[in-house]
Amino acid sequence: MTTAEAAPIKGLASVEAAIVRACRDARRDRSSVTLVAVSKTFDAEAITPVIAAGQRVFGENRVQEAQRKWPELIAAHPGIVLHLIGPLQSNKAKDAVALFDAIHSVDRVSLCEALAKEIDRQNRRPALFVQINTGEEPQKAGVVPADADDFIARCRDTYGLTISGLMCIPPVDEAPAPHFALTAKIARRNGLEQLSMGMSADFAVAIALGATHVRVGSAIFGTR
Ligand SMILES: *Cc1c(COP(=O)(O)O)cnc(C)c1O
Repeated sequence: MTTAEAAPIKGLASVEAAIVRACRDARRDRSSVTLVAVSKTFDAEAITPVIAAGQRVFGENRVQEAQRKWPELIAAHPGIVLHLIGPLQSNKAKDAVALFDAIHSVDRVSLCEALAKEIDRQNRRPALFVQINTGEEPQKAGVVPADADDFIARCRDTYGLTISGLMCIPPVDEAPAPHFALTAKIARRNGLEQLSMGMSADFAVAIALGATHVRVGSAIFGTR
């Protein structure tokens, strides 16, 4: 094995150890946290050793990139679970529902409509997360906190979607904890159990605040 192939295995092992520590500190069961290994920009040669090391849940942020990379890997490795963590255009809802087992970026009525139609048509039910723009950043996707309760109700009542949980990406220049706590609070009052929060720099903090899915890329695969 080359060093380029070995590096992600080391990264995976150290992330796993850190998740175990964070769970112990938070008195949580390790099985309550799913590690989503974010493989965006990395090709099959980098991903295959991570699959071989036992990782099965992966995250991608672009539908087209995932369509190029994953069908072959999925065919070769049973049990792969693929999460879409990036923004989704309504005209890609069809492809996203066909390929992904979870979508973390539900944030617009038009997207709800497109997803509901495809879920029905394809009879495939990816787990859906509503993205909350906790920092109210204009350039960032997601529903602002003040609109979250209404939006979640509309997903359920108007479009018949089952929402599994919430996702957030805190502003890069702020402490993440208040953003994670706010996301957890919105989830709690809407009866949602899943929380997709925490990336390479802050997944331990996210676990302390209730994350059920941590999305970790560079700490496993290296810098992009
Ligand atoms: C890229 C990405 C990640 C992973 O980021 P790292 O800092 O590399 O761990 C997590 N979530 C989203 C939405 C991303 O786009």
